[in-house]
Amino acid sequence: MIHPTGGPISTGTSTGTGTTIFTEMTALAQRAGAINLGQGFPDTDGPPAMLEAAQVAIATGANQYPPLAGLAELRLAISAQRSLRYDAHYDPDTEVLVTTGATEALAAALLAHCGPDDEVIVFEPYYDSYAASIALARGRKRVVQMRPDATGRFGFDPADLSAAVSRRSRLLLLNSPHNPTGTVFDDEELAAIADCCRRNNLVAITDEVYEYLTYDGALHTPLATLPGMRERTLSISSAGKTFSATGWKVGWVCGPAALVDAVRKVKQYLTFASGPAFQAAVALGLVAEQHWVRAQAARLQASRDRLRAGLAAAGLAPYVCQGTYFLQADIRPLGVTDGVRFCRELPHRAGIAAIPSAVFYDNPADGLSAVRFVFCKRPEVLDEAAGRLTALTTLSYQEAR
Ligand code: PMP
Ligand code: GLN
Repeated sequence: MIHPTGGPISTGTSTGTGTTIFTEMTALAQRAGAINLGQGFPDTDGPPAMLEAAQVAIATGANQYPPLAGLAELRLAISAQRSLRYDAHYDPDTEVLVTTGATEALAAALLAHCGPDDEVIVFEPYYDSYAASIALARGRKRVVQMRPDATGRFGFDPADLSAAVSRRSRLLLLNSPHNPTGTVFDDEELAAIADCCRRNNLVAITDEVYEYLTYDGALHTPLATLPGMRERTLSISSAGKTFSATGWKVGWVCGPAALVDAVRKVKQYLTFASGPAFQAAVALGLVAEQHWVRAQAARLQASRDRLRAGLAAAGLAPYVCQGTYFLQADIRPLGVTDGVRFCRELPHRAGIAAIPSAVFYDNPADGLSAVRFVFCKRPEVLDEAAGRLTALTTLSYQEAR
C-alpha cells in the first residue's frame, strides 16, 4: 500500500501482505548502524541450563523429525504449566499441540476455524501476522479500537465490541499482554470479552506470548479460565519471549480436543513439525527455570522504567505499559505528528530504529502520532539510545519549530 505520507509501508494494511515492518526496520537499522529498538528481541540469552539442554539434545541425537504434535515431554510440561499457573487443565495427548512458534499456531488456528467471509474480531492496534493470516483464510477482520485513557493506558469501549459483532462473526482474537500497547487486559475487560464470545457463540483465539512479562503487579489471566470459555478457546503461547529465545520458534496451542484437532490437521501441511532439540530444552525450561523467568520479568520492568525515563527526557510522552517488551510514546510533544516519517528518518538522523505504531492499524492515520520502542535490551544500550534521542530532539526537532 502507499502510505498517505509518501512511500510504501510494509504492513498495517487490511490484507497484511508484503514485507513485514520488522524486517524493513531491522534492515534499515543495520544499514545505518543504528541501535535497533524496533524488532522485539532481547540482546541477552535465556537460562544457561536451557541453552545447554539444547546442545546436549543435539549431541545425543534429537535431530530427526519429532512427532507432529510435539515431543511428549514438552506437551506434558505445557500441560503442567497451565495447571500449576492458571488451574487450567489440558490433556497432553489430545489438548496440547506444539507449533513452530506462536506464529504458526495463530496461522493454523485461523486457517482451521475461519471460513471464507467469516468475520474475526481483533483489537486494534494489532500484531501484523493477524491480518495476514486472516487474509490467507479468506476471512474478514473487524476491528475494535483501543484508545488511551487519561492515564495513558490503552483500553477498549465494550460498546465498540458489541458493535463489531455481526451474524458473520465467528472468531475473536485477543492478545494480552498486548503488543504494541503494553496493556494487560483486566478482569472487567476480560469479562466483557467472555460475555461477547458466549452470547455470540464465538471461538476465541488468545495470543499469550507475553504471559510472564507483566509489571507493577499486573496479572495475566487467560480468557479460557473465565466461566464458559474453556470449551470455546484456543490458548496460544510460545517460548520465545518467556525464555529470551525468539529464534527458537517453539510455540503451542491448548484447547478442547476437537478445536485442537482441527489445528493439528492444518499444521500437518504448514511445517509438519520442527526443532526437536529446542523442544526438549523448552520442556526443561518450563519445568525447571521458573525462577529465571521471574527474575527476567523484574529485569524487564526495570528496563521499561529506564527507557520510559529516557524517552520522557528526550521530550516524548510515553504511554502506560503494563507488560510485553514494548513501550509506545506520543511524538506530538516534539512538534512532530507523523510517526512513519519519524521512524524512517530516525536510524540515519539519530542512530536508533523504532516502529511506527501506524502499521498496526487498518487506517494508519489512527495511530500516526505513536511510536513503539522495545526495552528488552541491556541497560547501557537503552541509555545510549535515550542519549542519542535527546541529542536529536534538542538539536533538530526543537530548532525546526
Ligand atoms: N504474537 C505476538 C503478539 C508477538 O509479538 C509475536 C512476536 N514474537 C508473536 C505472536 C510471534 O511469536 P513466535 O515468535 O513464537 O512465533
Ligand atoms: N514480535 C516481534 C515484534 O513485535 C517481531 C517478530 C517478527 O519479526 N515478525 O517486534
